[in-house]
Amino acid sequence: MPAIASGKVLVTGANGYVAVWLVKQLLEQGFSVRGTVRSPAKAEHLKKLFASHGDKLEFVVVEDITKDGAFDEAVKGVDAIQHTASPFHFNAVDPSEIIGPAVAGTGTILQSALKFGTNVKRVVVLSSTAAVQEAGLPEPKVFTEKDWNNKAIEEVETKGKDADQIEKYTASKTLAEKAAWAWYEKNKAQLKWDLVVVNPPFVFGPLIHEISDVSALNTSMNLWYLFVLKGAGDAATLATVGNCWADVRDVATALVRALEKPEAGGERFIISAGPWKWQDWVNSARKFSPSVPAGNTEWKRETNVDPIITDSSKASKVLEGLVEVLNAFACFLVVFESSQHTRIPTFIPVRFGIKKE
Ligand code: NDP
Repeated sequence: MPAIASGKVLVTGANGYVAVWLVKQLLEQGFSVRGTVRSPAKAEHLKKLFASHGDKLEFVVVEDITKDGAFDEAVKGVDAIQHTASPFHFNAVDPSEIIGPAVAGTGTILQSALKFGTNVKRVVVLSSTAAVQEAGLPEPKVFTEKDWNNKAIEEVETKGKDADQIEKYTASKTLAEKAAWAWYEKNKAQLKWDLVVVNPPFVFGPLIHEISDVSALNTSMNLWYLFVLKGAGDAATLATVGNCWADVRDVATALVRALEKPEAGGERFIISAGPWKWQDWVNSARKFSPSVPAGNTEWKRETNVDPIITDSSKASKVLEGLVEVLNAFACFLVVFESSQHTRIPTFIPVRFGIKKE
Protein backbone atom coordinates (compact mmCIF):
# COMPACT_ATOMS: atom_id res chain seq x y z
CA MET A 1 0.00 0.00 0.00
CA PRO A 2 2.45 2.70 -1.05
CA ALA A 3 1.49 6.35 -0.58
CA ILE A 4 3.45 9.50 0.03
CA ALA A 5 3.32 12.36 2.52
CA SER A 6 6.24 14.40 1.17
CA GLY A 7 8.66 14.55 -1.75
CA LYS A 8 8.47 15.47 -5.42
CA VAL A 9 5.33 15.00 -7.51
CA LEU A 10 5.22 14.98 -11.30
CA VAL A 11 2.07 16.71 -12.61
CA THR A 12 1.41 16.16 -16.32
CA GLY A 13 -0.39 18.96 -18.18
CA ALA A 14 0.50 21.29 -15.31
CA ASN A 15 -0.90 24.39 -17.04
CA GLY A 16 -4.49 23.07 -17.27
CA TYR A 17 -7.53 24.35 -15.38
CA VAL A 18 -7.61 21.56 -12.78
CA ALA A 19 -3.86 21.00 -12.74
CA VAL A 20 -2.92 24.54 -11.67
CA TRP A 21 -5.11 24.16 -8.58
CA LEU A 22 -3.45 20.81 -7.94
CA VAL A 23 0.04 22.33 -8.26
CA LYS A 24 -1.03 25.10 -5.86
CA GLN A 25 -2.28 22.69 -3.20
CA LEU A 26 0.74 20.40 -3.54
CA LEU A 27 3.14 23.32 -3.09
CA GLU A 28 1.15 24.70 -0.16
CA GLN A 29 1.33 21.29 1.51
CA GLY A 30 5.10 21.20 1.21
CA PHE A 31 5.51 18.92 -1.81
CA SER A 32 7.93 19.80 -4.58
CA VAL A 33 6.37 19.76 -8.02
CA ARG A 34 7.73 18.98 -11.46
CA GLY A 35 5.20 20.00 -14.08
CA THR A 36 5.09 18.90 -17.70
CA VAL A 37 3.95 21.39 -20.35
CA ARG A 38 3.91 21.21 -24.14
CA SER A 39 6.12 24.28 -24.63
CA PRO A 40 8.32 26.48 -22.42
CA ALA A 41 5.91 29.43 -22.82
CA LYS A 42 3.16 27.43 -21.10
CA ALA A 43 5.19 27.35 -17.88
CA GLU A 44 5.70 31.11 -17.64
CA HIS A 45 2.39 31.94 -15.94
CA LEU A 46 2.92 29.21 -13.34
CA LYS A 47 6.45 30.38 -12.60
CA LYS A 48 5.06 33.83 -11.79
CA LEU A 49 2.01 32.54 -9.93
CA PHE A 50 4.08 30.29 -7.67
CA ALA A 51 7.28 32.37 -7.51
CA SER A 52 7.18 32.36 -3.71
CA HIS A 53 7.81 28.59 -3.76
CA GLY A 54 11.21 29.08 -5.38
CA ASP A 55 12.96 25.94 -6.56
CA LYS A 56 10.22 23.68 -5.23
CA LEU A 57 8.59 24.08 -8.65
CA GLU A 58 10.28 23.04 -11.90
CA PHE A 59 9.14 22.21 -15.42
CA VAL A 60 9.97 19.82 -18.21
CA VAL A 61 8.70 20.13 -21.74
CA VAL A 62 6.96 17.05 -23.14
CA GLU A 63 5.89 18.03 -26.62
CA ASP A 64 4.06 14.86 -27.53
CA ILE A 65 2.67 12.70 -24.76
CA THR A 66 1.80 9.93 -27.21
CA LYS A 67 5.39 9.21 -28.25
CA ASP A 68 7.03 6.11 -26.81
CA GLY A 69 9.26 7.15 -23.93
CA ALA A 70 7.65 10.62 -23.77
CA PHE A 71 7.93 10.79 -19.98
CA ASP A 72 11.13 8.76 -19.52
CA GLU A 73 13.15 11.79 -18.36
CA ALA A 74 10.27 13.46 -16.53
CA VAL A 75 9.66 10.55 -14.13
CA LYS A 76 13.26 10.26 -12.99
CA GLY A 77 13.61 11.15 -9.31
CA VAL A 78 9.95 11.84 -8.57
CA ASP A 79 8.13 10.19 -5.67
CA ALA A 80 4.69 10.18 -7.23
CA ILE A 81 2.86 11.07 -10.42
CA GLN A 82 -0.40 12.91 -11.06
CA HIS A 83 -1.48 12.36 -14.68
CA THR A 84 -3.94 15.09 -15.74
CA ALA A 85 -2.88 15.80 -19.35
CA SER A 86 -5.66 14.67 -21.65
CA PRO A 87 -7.78 16.42 -24.26
CA PHE A 88 -11.17 17.75 -23.16
CA HIS A 89 -13.00 19.25 -26.12
CA PHE A 90 -15.94 18.59 -28.40
CA ASN A 91 -14.17 19.25 -31.71
CA ALA A 92 -12.91 15.85 -32.82
CA VAL A 93 -14.01 14.85 -36.30
CA ASP A 94 -12.74 11.29 -36.13
CA PRO A 95 -13.07 9.85 -32.60
CA SER A 96 -9.43 8.78 -32.81
CA GLU A 97 -8.38 12.45 -32.64
CA ILE A 98 -9.41 12.57 -29.00
CA ILE A 99 -9.22 8.90 -28.05
CA GLY A 100 -5.66 8.58 -29.40
CA PRO A 101 -3.93 11.10 -27.10
CA ALA A 102 -6.09 10.16 -24.10
CA VAL A 103 -5.25 6.46 -24.31
CA ALA A 104 -1.68 6.75 -25.58
CA GLY A 105 -0.81 9.54 -23.10
CA THR A 106 -1.97 7.36 -20.21
CA GLY A 107 -0.01 4.40 -21.57
CA THR A 108 3.24 6.34 -21.98
CA ILE A 109 3.21 7.75 -18.45
CA LEU A 110 2.61 4.30 -16.94
CA GLN A 111 5.31 2.76 -19.10
CA SER A 112 7.84 5.51 -18.23
CA ALA A 113 6.98 5.10 -14.53
CA LEU A 114 7.66 1.36 -14.83
CA LYS A 115 10.97 1.78 -16.60
CA PHE A 116 12.49 4.88 -15.01
CA GLY A 117 10.34 5.79 -11.99
CA THR A 118 12.61 4.11 -9.49
CA ASN A 119 11.41 6.37 -6.63
CA VAL A 120 7.74 6.37 -7.60
CA LYS A 121 5.39 5.07 -4.92
CA ARG A 122 2.02 6.06 -6.36
CA VAL A 123 0.49 7.08 -9.69
CA VAL A 124 -2.80 8.99 -9.67
CA VAL A 125 -4.73 9.27 -12.93
CA LEU A 126 -7.35 12.00 -13.34
CA SER A 127 -10.20 10.26 -15.14
CA SER A 128 -13.81 11.42 -15.06
CA THR A 129 -17.33 10.24 -14.34
CA ALA A 130 -17.46 10.34 -18.13
CA ALA A 131 -15.86 6.92 -17.75
CA VAL A 132 -18.53 5.84 -15.27
CA GLN A 133 -21.97 7.10 -16.23
CA GLU A 134 -24.04 6.27 -19.30
CA ALA A 135 -26.28 8.92 -20.80
CA GLY A 136 -29.85 8.46 -22.00
CA LEU A 137 -31.03 5.69 -19.65
CA PRO A 138 -34.82 5.27 -19.38
CA GLU A 139 -34.79 5.62 -15.57
CA PRO A 140 -32.71 7.76 -13.20
CA LYS A 141 -29.67 5.89 -11.89
CA VAL A 142 -27.16 6.27 -9.08
CA PHE A 143 -23.72 5.47 -10.50
CA THR A 144 -20.88 4.09 -8.40
CA GLU A 145 -17.26 3.13 -9.00
CA LYS A 146 -18.50 -0.27 -10.20
CA ASP A 147 -20.03 1.29 -13.31
CA TRP A 148 -18.41 1.86 -16.69
CA ASN A 149 -19.57 3.94 -19.62
CA ASN A 150 -19.56 1.13 -22.17
CA LYS A 151 -22.32 2.88 -24.12
CA ALA A 152 -19.92 5.62 -25.24
CA ILE A 153 -17.46 3.03 -26.55
CA GLU A 154 -20.24 1.29 -28.49
CA GLU A 155 -21.38 4.62 -29.93
CA VAL A 156 -17.97 5.58 -31.30
CA GLU A 157 -17.44 2.04 -32.59
CA THR A 158 -20.73 1.96 -34.44
CA LYS A 159 -21.03 5.58 -35.57
CA GLY A 160 -17.40 6.67 -35.97
CA LYS A 161 -17.25 10.30 -37.15
CA ASP A 162 -21.03 10.62 -36.73
CA ALA A 163 -20.93 9.80 -33.03
CA ASP A 164 -22.11 12.54 -30.71
CA GLN A 165 -19.26 14.88 -29.69
CA ILE A 166 -19.90 14.29 -26.01
CA GLU A 167 -19.70 10.52 -26.58
CA LYS A 168 -16.37 10.91 -28.40
CA TYR A 169 -14.95 12.64 -25.30
CA THR A 170 -16.56 10.25 -22.82
CA ALA A 171 -15.31 7.28 -24.85
CA SER A 172 -11.79 8.78 -24.67
CA LYS A 173 -11.98 8.90 -20.87
CA THR A 174 -13.50 5.41 -20.60
CA LEU A 175 -10.97 3.80 -22.92
CA ALA A 176 -8.03 5.61 -21.30
CA GLU A 177 -9.07 4.55 -17.81
CA LYS A 178 -9.81 0.98 -18.87
CA ALA A 179 -6.39 0.83 -20.51
CA ALA A 180 -4.76 2.13 -17.31
CA TRP A 181 -6.39 -0.57 -15.16
CA ALA A 182 -5.62 -3.29 -17.70
CA TRP A 183 -1.97 -2.20 -17.85
CA TYR A 184 -1.82 -2.08 -14.04
CA GLU A 185 -3.28 -5.57 -13.61
CA LYS A 186 -0.80 -6.95 -16.13
CA ASN A 187 2.25 -5.28 -14.62
CA LYS A 188 1.52 -4.84 -10.93
CA ALA A 189 3.62 -7.79 -9.77
CA GLN A 190 6.75 -5.94 -10.91
CA LEU A 191 5.73 -2.46 -9.68
CA LYS A 192 6.90 -0.67 -6.53
CA TRP A 193 3.95 1.69 -6.86
CA ASP A 194 0.20 1.44 -7.00
CA LEU A 195 -2.49 3.15 -9.06
CA VAL A 196 -5.34 5.40 -7.93
CA VAL A 197 -7.94 6.91 -10.26
CA VAL A 198 -10.02 9.99 -9.43
CA ASN A 199 -13.32 10.46 -11.31
CA PRO A 200 -14.92 13.90 -11.02
CA PRO A 201 -18.02 14.91 -12.97
CA PHE A 202 -18.15 18.42 -14.50
CA VAL A 203 -15.59 20.56 -12.71
CA PHE A 204 -16.57 24.17 -12.09
CA GLY A 205 -15.02 26.93 -10.00
CA PRO A 206 -12.53 29.76 -10.10
CA LEU A 207 -9.78 29.99 -12.67
CA ILE A 208 -6.15 30.50 -11.84
CA HIS A 209 -4.68 29.12 -15.05
CA GLU A 210 -3.73 31.41 -17.89
CA ILE A 211 -6.23 32.20 -20.61
CA SER A 212 -5.83 34.88 -23.25
CA ASP A 213 -9.56 35.59 -23.61
CA VAL A 214 -12.95 34.03 -23.03
CA SER A 215 -12.68 31.85 -26.12
CA ALA A 216 -9.70 30.13 -24.48
CA LEU A 217 -11.65 29.02 -21.42
CA ASN A 218 -11.33 25.30 -20.71
CA THR A 219 -14.34 23.30 -21.87
CA SER A 220 -16.28 22.96 -18.60
CA MET A 221 -15.92 26.64 -17.64
CA ASN A 222 -16.65 27.71 -21.19
CA LEU A 223 -19.98 25.89 -21.02
CA TRP A 224 -20.66 27.43 -17.61
CA TYR A 225 -19.82 30.88 -18.94
CA LEU A 226 -22.08 30.49 -21.97
CA PHE A 227 -25.09 28.90 -20.26
CA VAL A 228 -25.00 30.79 -16.98
CA LEU A 229 -23.56 34.19 -17.74
CA LYS A 230 -24.33 34.66 -21.44
CA GLY A 231 -27.85 33.18 -21.54
CA ALA A 232 -26.91 30.73 -24.28
CA GLY A 233 -29.50 28.07 -23.39
CA ASP A 234 -33.20 28.16 -24.28
CA ALA A 235 -35.77 27.47 -21.55
CA ALA A 236 -35.94 23.74 -22.26
CA THR A 237 -32.15 23.35 -22.24
CA LEU A 238 -31.75 25.22 -18.96
CA ALA A 239 -34.43 23.03 -17.36
CA THR A 240 -33.33 19.67 -18.70
CA VAL A 241 -29.59 19.69 -19.36
CA GLY A 242 -27.43 18.91 -16.38
CA ASN A 243 -25.12 16.42 -14.76
CA CYS A 244 -23.19 16.29 -11.51
CA TRP A 245 -20.34 18.59 -10.57
CA ALA A 246 -17.39 19.14 -8.26
CA ASP A 247 -15.60 22.33 -7.26
CA VAL A 248 -12.17 22.53 -8.86
CA ARG A 249 -10.59 23.13 -5.45
CA ASP A 250 -12.16 19.96 -4.07
CA VAL A 251 -10.97 17.96 -7.05
CA ALA A 252 -7.45 19.21 -6.38
CA THR A 253 -7.80 18.27 -2.71
CA ALA A 254 -9.06 14.81 -3.66
CA LEU A 255 -6.08 14.31 -5.96
CA VAL A 256 -3.68 15.25 -3.14
CA ARG A 257 -5.49 12.94 -0.72
CA ALA A 258 -5.27 10.19 -3.33
CA LEU A 259 -1.50 10.44 -3.00
CA GLU A 260 -1.51 10.40 0.77
CA LYS A 261 -3.96 7.66 1.73
CA PRO A 262 -2.38 4.20 1.70
CA GLU A 263 -5.80 2.51 1.51
CA ALA A 264 -6.65 4.39 -1.69
CA GLY A 265 -4.21 2.18 -3.67
CA GLY A 266 -5.83 0.17 -6.44
CA GLU A 267 -9.14 2.07 -6.22
CA ARG A 268 -11.15 4.53 -8.32
CA PHE A 269 -13.00 7.36 -6.56
CA ILE A 270 -15.97 9.42 -7.70
CA ILE A 271 -15.73 13.01 -6.44
CA SER A 272 -19.14 14.67 -6.70
CA ALA A 273 -20.95 17.56 -5.02
CA GLY A 274 -24.28 16.47 -6.48
CA PRO A 275 -26.52 17.05 -9.47
CA TRP A 276 -27.32 20.29 -11.28
CA LYS A 277 -29.34 21.66 -14.14
CA TRP A 278 -28.16 24.81 -15.85
CA GLN A 279 -31.04 26.69 -14.26
CA ASP A 280 -29.62 25.83 -10.79
CA TRP A 281 -26.52 27.79 -11.66
CA VAL A 282 -28.52 30.63 -13.18
CA ASN A 283 -30.60 30.89 -10.00
CA SER A 284 -27.51 30.81 -7.78
CA ALA A 285 -25.71 33.38 -9.88
CA ARG A 286 -28.69 35.73 -9.96
CA LYS A 287 -28.84 35.84 -6.16
CA PHE A 288 -25.53 37.57 -6.38
CA SER A 289 -25.74 39.44 -9.64
CA PRO A 290 -29.19 40.34 -11.04
CA SER A 291 -27.58 41.15 -14.40
CA VAL A 292 -27.30 37.40 -15.07
CA PRO A 293 -30.07 36.48 -17.58
CA ALA A 294 -33.09 35.03 -15.71
CA GLY A 295 -33.39 31.93 -17.90
CA ASN A 296 -36.32 29.61 -17.22
CA THR A 297 -38.26 31.22 -14.38
CA GLU A 298 -40.86 28.41 -14.38
CA TRP A 299 -38.35 25.68 -13.50
CA LYS A 300 -38.29 24.43 -9.91
CA ARG A 301 -35.67 22.21 -8.31
CA GLU A 302 -38.34 20.60 -6.06
CA THR A 303 -40.12 19.05 -9.05
CA ASN A 304 -36.96 18.46 -11.09
CA VAL A 305 -35.72 14.93 -11.83
CA ASP A 306 -31.98 14.25 -12.02
CA PRO A 307 -31.41 11.25 -14.30
CA ILE A 308 -27.77 10.87 -13.27
CA ILE A 309 -26.52 10.85 -9.70
CA THR A 310 -22.92 9.96 -8.96
CA ASP A 311 -22.28 8.43 -5.54
CA SER A 312 -19.15 9.79 -3.89
CA SER A 313 -19.56 8.08 -0.51
CA LYS A 314 -16.45 5.94 -1.06
CA ALA A 315 -14.31 9.07 -1.53
CA SER A 316 -15.84 10.66 1.56
CA LYS A 317 -14.77 7.62 3.58
CA VAL A 318 -11.32 6.92 2.19
CA LEU A 319 -10.14 10.38 1.08
CA GLU A 320 -11.21 11.90 4.40
CA GLY A 321 -11.84 15.59 4.79
CA LEU A 322 -14.01 15.95 1.70
CA VAL A 323 -17.30 15.16 3.42
CA GLU A 324 -18.42 18.70 4.06
CA VAL A 325 -17.84 19.97 0.57
CA LEU A 326 -19.16 16.84 -1.08
CA ASN A 327 -22.47 17.36 0.68
CA ALA A 328 -22.81 20.96 -0.39
CA PHE A 329 -25.17 21.62 -3.27
CA ALA A 330 -24.98 24.55 -5.64
CA CYS A 331 -22.65 26.34 -3.26
CA PHE A 332 -21.63 28.78 -5.89
CA LEU A 333 -21.99 32.51 -6.15
CA VAL A 334 -20.59 34.74 -8.79
CA VAL A 335 -18.53 37.84 -8.40
CA PHE A 336 -17.47 39.75 -11.47
CA GLU A 337 -13.95 40.93 -10.98
CA SER A 338 -10.92 41.72 -12.97
CA SER A 339 -8.72 38.75 -12.28
CA GLN A 340 -5.10 39.34 -11.52
CA HIS A 341 -4.22 36.24 -13.51
CA THR A 342 -6.07 36.82 -16.75
CA ARG A 343 -6.55 39.78 -19.01
CA ILE A 344 -10.33 39.49 -19.10
CA PRO A 345 -13.03 40.34 -16.62
CA THR A 346 -13.73 37.04 -14.97
CA PHE A 347 -15.78 35.53 -12.22
CA ILE A 348 -14.77 34.09 -8.89
CA PRO A 349 -17.29 31.59 -7.61
CA VAL A 350 -17.41 31.32 -3.83
CA ARG A 351 -19.22 28.94 -1.55
CA PHE A 352 -22.15 29.69 0.71
CA GLY A 353 -20.92 29.65 4.26
CA ILE A 354 -17.38 28.81 3.29
CA LYS A 355 -14.67 31.41 3.31
CA LYS A 356 -13.83 33.00 -0.03
CA GLU A 357 -10.40 32.11 -1.39
P1 NDP B 1 -7.63 21.79 -19.66
O1 NDP B 1 -7.96 21.79 -21.10
O2 NDP B 1 -7.61 23.07 -18.93
O3 NDP B 1 -6.23 21.08 -19.43
C1 NDP B 1 -5.87 19.97 -20.16
C2 NDP B 1 -4.39 19.74 -20.01
O4 NDP B 1 -4.04 18.60 -20.78
C3 NDP B 1 -3.55 20.91 -20.55
O5 NDP B 1 -2.35 20.98 -19.86
C4 NDP B 1 -3.32 20.49 -21.99
O6 NDP B 1 -2.16 21.03 -22.58
C5 NDP B 1 -3.13 18.99 -21.80
N1 NDP B 1 -3.45 18.31 -23.06
C6 NDP B 1 -4.63 18.26 -23.69
N2 NDP B 1 -4.53 17.56 -24.83
C7 NDP B 1 -3.24 17.17 -24.91
C8 NDP B 1 -2.49 16.43 -25.86
N3 NDP B 1 -3.05 15.95 -26.97
N4 NDP B 1 -1.17 16.26 -25.62
C9 NDP B 1 -0.59 16.77 -24.51
N5 NDP B 1 -1.24 17.46 -23.58
C10 NDP B 1 -2.55 17.66 -23.78
O7 NDP B 1 -8.67 20.76 -19.04
P2 NDP B 1 -9.12 20.43 -17.56
O8 NDP B 1 -8.19 20.96 -16.57
O9 NDP B 1 -10.55 20.74 -17.48
O10 NDP B 1 -8.99 18.85 -17.61
C11 NDP B 1 -7.87 18.18 -17.09
C12 NDP B 1 -8.21 16.73 -16.93
O11 NDP B 1 -9.36 16.59 -16.08
C13 NDP B 1 -8.56 16.02 -18.24
O12 NDP B 1 -8.02 14.73 -18.16
C14 NDP B 1 -10.06 15.97 -18.20
O13 NDP B 1 -10.57 14.90 -18.95
C15 NDP B 1 -10.32 15.78 -16.71
N6 NDP B 1 -11.63 16.19 -16.27
C16 NDP B 1 -12.04 17.49 -16.44
C17 NDP B 1 -13.31 17.86 -16.05
C18 NDP B 1 -13.80 19.25 -16.20
O14 NDP B 1 -15.03 19.45 -16.08
N7 NDP B 1 -12.94 20.24 -16.43
C19 NDP B 1 -14.24 16.87 -15.49
C20 NDP B 1 -13.67 15.56 -15.29
C21 NDP B 1 -12.42 15.24 -15.69
P3 NDP B 1 -2.22 22.34 -23.51
O15 NDP B 1 -2.59 23.48 -22.62
O16 NDP B 1 -0.88 22.44 -24.08
O17 NDP B 1 -3.30 22.06 -24.53
